[in-house]
Amino acid sequence: MPDIQIHDLFAHNRAWAAQMERDRPGFFTSLVKQQTPKFMWIGCSDSRVPANQITGLEPGEVFVHRNVANVVVHSDLNALSAIQFAVDMLKVEHIMVVGHYRCGGVLAALNNQRVGLADNWIRHIQDVRDRHRGILENIAPEKRGDALVDLNVIEQVVNVCVSTVMTDAWAKGQNVTIHGWAFGVHDGLLQDLHMTVSSHDSIEPVYRAAIEGVMATHS
Ligand SMILES: [Zn+2]
Repeated sequence: MPDIQIHDLFAHNRAWAAQMERDRPGFFTSLVKQQTPKFMWIGCSDSRVPANQITGLEPGEVFVHRNVANVVVHSDLNALSAIQFAVDMLKVEHIMVVGHYRCGGVLAALNNQRVGLADNWIRHIQDVRDRHRGILENIAPEKRGDALVDLNVIEQVVNVCVSTVMTDAWAKGQNVTIHGWAFGVHDGLLQDLHMTVSSHDSIEPVYRAAIEGVMATHS
């Protein structure tokens, strides 16, 4: 990869803006007028997992929240505010929680690796690990990291589903579907973990099937 310096970013930006305007005259003028994305992406902060590029979406098409290891904690006002804004104000129709294989946060959780302050954040993924210890023990050690990535996504989808934001949205009859996906840094491909929930009542059966899917995929 080229050795990019900080000042190069402005040069890249000007070139990108000029190219966009050449290809699609008026593109930025139309962006100013509205933001009506149908999709919200909750992903890992990892630099290898850029939401727009992976999905071929343009500016204005996906509302993004990222943190270490794509965790949605019940009391995290940052994530919850982003979800609430997306659901109540932007009226997104789909929220994707997207993990990725070879996730440093998930691997640190799996291996009890201490990284510093972030240990307290990663502790949430250790809770997922401990909840599914029986499954992980039946998976070959070299595949446990990928399995925990999937299990973490499934659990975070549940956390989105049981949030007050989604409880209220579904009670009002709003059409929002929550999805669980995993991205392969090694092949650039998204996998659907079939943790797709569009009502409060379907959380439990879909969750059980998705967990069984993890066992089938990685064992
Ligand atoms: Zn990650």
